[in-house]
Amino acid sequence: MSEKRDYYEILGVSRDASADEIKKSYRKLAVKFHPDKNPGDHTAEEKFKELGEAYEALSDADKRAAYDRYGHAAFSGGGGGRSGGGGFHDPMDIFSQMFGGAFGGGFEEFFGGGGSRRGSGKQKGSDLRYDLEISLEEAARGVEKELEIERYVPCEPCGSKGTKGSGGVKPCSTCGGRGVVGRQSGIFIQQATCPECRGAGETISDPCSSCKGDGRVQRDSRIKLRIPAGVDTGTRLRSSGNGDSGVRGGAAGDLYVFLHVRDHDVFERDDSDLYCSVPLPFSVAALGGELKVPSLDGQSSIKIPMGTQGGTTFRLRDKGMPSLTNGRRGDLNVTVQVEVPTKLNSDQQEKLRAFSESIGDHNSPMQEGFFKKAKRFFDL
Ligand SMILES: [Zn+2]
Ligand SMILES: [Zn+2]
Repeated sequence: MSEKRDYYEILGVSRDASADEIKKSYRKLAVKFHPDKNPGDHTAEEKFKELGEAYEALSDADKRAAYDRYGHAAFSGGGGGRSGGGGFHDPMDIFSQMFGGAFGGGFEEFFGGGGSRRGSGKQKGSDLRYDLEISLEEAARGVEKELEIERYVPCEPCGSKGTKGSGGVKPCSTCGGRGVVGRQSGIFIQQATCPECRGAGETISDPCSSCKGDGRVQRDSRIKLRIPAGVDTGTRLRSSGNGDSGVRGGAAGDLYVFLHVRDHDVFERDDSDLYCSVPLPFSVAALGGELKVPSLDGQSSIKIPMGTQGGTTFRLRDKGMPSLTNGRRGDLNVTVQVEVPTKLNSDQQEKLRAFSESIGDHNSPMQEGFFKKAKRFFDL
């Protein structure tokens, strides 16, 4: 991991989340990524560690305040060393504190779902991720999109039960319906998924032919998603219950949509402000006048004062992007680039020469300032 992820992001909560929300989210995710539940999965292990650290920081009011102010710098280095508040505890300890340790019943309860839930095969389906690219205009106005996603949906022929008839489901004899088997490993009793029923806690003697007993089938499904105005690259939307259906009637997971806003031909975006540069004819720059500029609302115009220099930026208030949180719009900043004509006919050249003679060396404030500063280079 080259760059440390944001603690709030790791825990999937907003920056103003309550202590309770943080706790809930940690519990959910820590169970999901616990090494015992993901044997040999290195990514899950890393995630589990990351979660422990994020939770430790955000569950302590003082540490959280420090993190809000200084970010990760609040916990790195700083003389205190590992024991002086700079370091973090073993993620396994943090987990055990919350769940009452690996030795009590509390630990098992969270994986086994209390036996009865596991015993009826009501495992929650997986959360899914979908990456969606949208245009800047869509991000500005909000848009409804239809996503096509391959996911598990309830099996219709068996009504998610997974059996052809009734009475075909029996508790698994290997794990006693718990879906997990215990295994001593050092000081821990490790929980492993039952090899017989693969975690379902039950075996089926007459599986449904279309879902093979799973109670769910993989299908392309279309999901409508309302994208609010103001989203940006990195915004994550949750579509509740639109992840994978659970095995045999288990609750569905959620669908997480990660947004990517495409680069725009004309505008650059910084948060809710927009930037663009527009060519300005040199005669308008000198004489002043009106300049039409593009904006998200179509067209706007700015008044160019007489004697406008290239590189001048004009700010159009409330013509930027709306804020996702309060809808307030940012500004559009237009920088003008004075354009010199490249083709002049002889008549025009003549007029411009006459103009040049009439203006002489005066009335060029930038030039005067420059020559003052650079005088020594020309006086050699
Ligand atoms: Zn079993
Ligand atoms: Zn079925």
